[in-house]
Parts: sequence; C-alpha cells; structure tokens
Amino acid sequence: MFMSKLVGRTIKETPRDAELPSHRFLLRAGYARQYSAGIYGLLPLAMRSVGKIERICREEMNRVDGQEVRLPCMSSRELWEESGRYQAIGKDMFRLKDRNDKDMVLNMTHEEPVVFLARTELTSYRQLPAMLYQVQTKFRDEPRPRGGLVRLREFTMKDAYSFHASEDDLKAYYDRMHEAYMRFFKRCGAKKFVSVLSDNGMFGGKFSHEFMTLVPTGEDTLVTCSHCDYKANREVATSPYRIKKEPERALTRFPTPGAKTIEQLVAFCAKPDVTEKVGGSVAAADTAKAVLYQNKQEELVVAFVRGDLDIEEQKLKVALQMDLFPAKDEPIRRAKAVPGSTGPLGLDVARAWVVLDNSVVESTNLVTGANEDGMHIANLNIARDFLQGLSDWERKRVLTADVASARAGDPCPQCSHDLEETRGIEIGNIFHLGTRYSASMNMTFLDTAGKAQTPVMGCYGIGITRLLPALIEEHHDDRGPILPLPVAPFHVHMCMLNMKDAGVLETALGLKKSLEAQGVEVLLDDRDEKPGSQFADADLIGIPLRVILSPKTLAEQSFEFKFRDNREPAKLVKLEGAMAFLSEALANEWKKYSVD
Ligand SMILES: [Zn+2]
Repeated sequence: MFMSKLVGRTIKETPRDAELPSHRFLLRAGYARQYSAGIYGLLPLAMRSVGKIERICREEMNRVDGQEVRLPCMSSRELWEESGRYQAIGKDMFRLKDRNDKDMVLNMTHEEPVVFLARTELTSYRQLPAMLYQVQTKFRDEPRPRGGLVRLREFTMKDAYSFHASEDDLKAYYDRMHEAYMRFFKRCGAKKFVSVLSDNGMFGGKFSHEFMTLVPTGEDTLVTCSHCDYKANREVATSPYRIKKEPERALTRFPTPGAKTIEQLVAFCAKPDVTEKVGGSVAAADTAKAVLYQNKQEELVVAFVRGDLDIEEQKLKVALQMDLFPAKDEPIRRAKAVPGSTGPLGLDVARAWVVLDNSVVESTNLVTGANEDGMHIANLNIARDFLQGLSDWERKRVLTADVASARAGDPCPQCSHDLEETRGIEIGNIFHLGTRYSASMNMTFLDTAGKAQTPVMGCYGIGITRLLPALIEEHHDDRGPILPLPVAPFHVHMCMLNMKDAGVLETALGLKKSLEAQGVEVLLDDRDEKPGSQFADADLIGIPLRVILSPKTLAEQSFEFKFRDNREPAKLVKLEGAMAFLSEALANEWKKYSVD
C-alpha cells in the first residue's frame, strides 16, 4: 500500500474529549472517525487490524469445533418476550417500531436468536455437544458512551453459544473454551491479561469468567492476591475481612447532635464523656453504616455494612435479585428510616427490605443509628438485638449476605494474604448459562432413551472492536501505539527520505515488491514529506518494523532498520542481505505470539 493513496489522514491536534491514549491515537492516526456518541466508522487501517483479530478468532473457534452462523441484528418483541428479557432489560436495549407499529429491538446479545435456531436444528443427543458462533454487529444504548472504541453503542462481537446434554459435558467444554480464549488473546498480542471470576449479570447462571487486560486506564477494578491465584472483578470479589469480637455489652441509646456521617460519629464518640458512656473507643470499624436505595416498586431497601467498608452495589443487586435506585423521601418516610441516623432498630421492616452484610452480623458492639434525628445506639449485637425480635414474616424481608466491597489490604478469601487492587478493560467473557434460555424458550432434545430433555448452555463473548483499543492501552508510548505484529495493519512501514532521488524510489519499490511477494505487508510512505513528519506519522500509526531509505544509506549500499518500540538502536543493514535480514526479524517477531 502506498501512503499517498491510503484513505485516512493523520491529524496533529489532540481531539477534544479523548481521554484514553487509544482514543487519541485511533483518531489522530486515521484509524477511526466518530459519527455520534458511541458510534464510529472504521477506516482502512482499523479494518485491516480488526480483520486480523476476526481471523484469529475464527481459527480458535473452529479449533474447538465451533460452526459459524449469521443471526439477525433485529428481532421482534415476541422473541425477547419468550425469555422474559423484553421486560427485564431496561434502557440498554435499542427499541423501535416497524411500519405496522410492531415492536422490534436491535439485538444487544443473541441468546434468544440462537436458541430460536437451535431448537429446530438440534433435536437429538447425537447432535450434541454443538457450538454456534457469530462475528457480528451488536447494539447497546450505553448511558455514558465514552473512551473512544472501548465503550460503543454499535460494536462488533464474537459471541459463541454451546449446547450440551449434561452439566458435566458443559463443564468440560467450558474449560476447553477457557483455553481457546487464552490462546486467542496471546496470539493477538495481549500480554498483561488475566481471567477473573465475574458477575453473571443479566445472563443468569452459576459461574463465569471475564478476561481483562490490566491497564491503569481500565474502567473495571480487579481485586487480586499476589500470594495465591485469587483474582476477581470487584463486583464479585469477596473477603472474610478482619472482624473484632468482644463480649457483648448492654445496648445504649445516646444523643449525637450534628453527627450524621460515620466520620462525624467517630469524632463525636471520641469525646471522653461519650467514650465512657458507650463503653469504649469507637473507630469506623465499630459502627454499622446504612445505605438507602429503593426498588422498582418504590419499596425502601436498607443495606447495612460495617462503617469502614462500602456497599458493592452489584453484589447487593444480585443478593436481592432487584434493580436498585437512589431512595426518594416517600419510601424512607414510610419505613420510618431517618437519613443520618438510620439503624436496624425501629425500622418498619414490613415496609422495607433489609440487607445485613456479614461484617455487621459477625461484629460485636456496633454503633448505629436509632431512627431518630440526633440519636444513635451503641453496643448493637445484631442477632441479639434485631434478628431475634423479628416475626417469621418480617424475617423473610431481612437478608444476610456478602455485599461489601473488597479492597486492597483486606484478607484474601483463599489464603488470607493482603488483597491488591488493579484496573483492567474487559476484552472477553465466558458464562455458564445452564437452562436459563433453553428452558424458557422450550428447547428440548431426545436423550438415548428417547426422552425429551432440556440442554444446558454456555455462552462466550469477545469484544472484537474493543480489543484493538485495549491492545493499544497496553502497548503504546507518548508518540503512538506500538501494535503487536499479528494485529498491526501492516508488518513493515517503509520511509523514503528524499523520494525525488531516483535511486531511493527505485530501491524502495524493489524492496517492497520482494517483501510483498513473500506475503509481507508493506506501507510505503511516498508522500514526499519531511523526515520529521514521516517519522511522526510512522510512530502514530504504530507498525512494529520500520525500514528507512535515503541517499545517505544508499551511499553505503544499505537501509536503516528499527523497531517501533525502540528496543534497540536503529542499525544499517546491507541491501544485498535485505530479504534474509527482514525475514528473520519478522520470523522472530511472529514467534513471540505463537501458542503451539
Ligand atoms: Zn490469596
């Protein structure tokens, strides 16, 4: 390819609102252009990279016996009603009406369309296991589409769905798929990536993993242990925490004028007369903090967590199986909660859902709100003072669960060593779906005895268009991306300094032709730009190998060679050995991404 013909100009200015390096570089280097929020077009450079990612992905999916299909981008309301998700999914799904006023959706994921297909095609145990996959455009109406190509409203996904006669078979296949994902990401050049336990979210099922590239710009927080293999998205991470146990003291009500936050409460309790009254010093970890939400039915949800910890909203939603919103005044008033002094005692449990984090249930002698303005209670022992007093009916509205947010420094749930926090971008996920979709959509197969059974399913996604920016977040310097060879738009970037020199032009064209004959992809800068701007553009595009020809190098019968990542100084290479040298350099580079 000649750079003078390549569609997609480089831009000098840093685009406004582009916070992530990948976002800046993809726009400035001419890979992508924004149409509107979260909607981008890909230019030829990006198409070449994304095409390579798709090719590697198809190879790995075919290797685990996948069969590619194409599923519709648009579905009828009825299809999504079969699984119950037409109602369950909120504003994330794009919805529209056709000319006959019929409700339609733009598919954000394809469990429903794939089961629609599979239930007529897969009807016997002899056909199982089966895996169908697609590489297609999906839609999601993100509340905050940002970060360039990381969080889009229209994007390309590889989604795979597997069907099995038994849980054991699914489990074995899930492990195979996990390995296929490790191979895929390694082949694409992701280095700092991990698979972590994750939340099943709206998919429903028993276990799932997310694949993350660990980059400081990532939007997800991972909680990891450097002592063992524990790694989890913070949305599911757990810790036994460190719980203080003391002999239970008598419940004490005491006035706390002006103390509304945990910080204010701790400061207030530090006054000697108050400390004496409550029976000892009070740190944040000696308090129970209430966080107020409401559900769709506008019922109050009060979550209690130890004062030094925070609620992990995703864990709370999963524990309750409810969507949660900030609490409004009316549900708070009905349940007799008093913001700033909310506690379990005196709450009208008939009009609220109460979730007690394990940290609150296990701790002794906590300070908490008295549900009266300016009053708190000391020495709360939740089993003694709250749970025992509940009627059977009220007990059903009180949940004990792990809903606290695990942090760096908390003990690891596997080995008790201190946990660490790190950030990442999700680049893939694998989910155990069970019979969530096959059962609700009446998919059955005949088993060996001729009896109808419901197949169990797994689903497996890779964000194809997201992987390119995620790789750039991992591999870049301040001048541009440093793309791994397998996904770079071209293998070799060739610069001609002074292309008016007939010798330079002729040598460059000859070398390009020889390389291309060997299957090497070359981008030749034939724009007659100054060396400085040629090099700046080459850095910005990020092709891993570079060849520079000039009258000066030709005078030595040589060209200059360097790697985009500057791992070693540029060197002069004799033209007569050019092909052997470049072939070896490329072969060494390919080896780094080999998995066999
Ligand atoms: Zn550990």
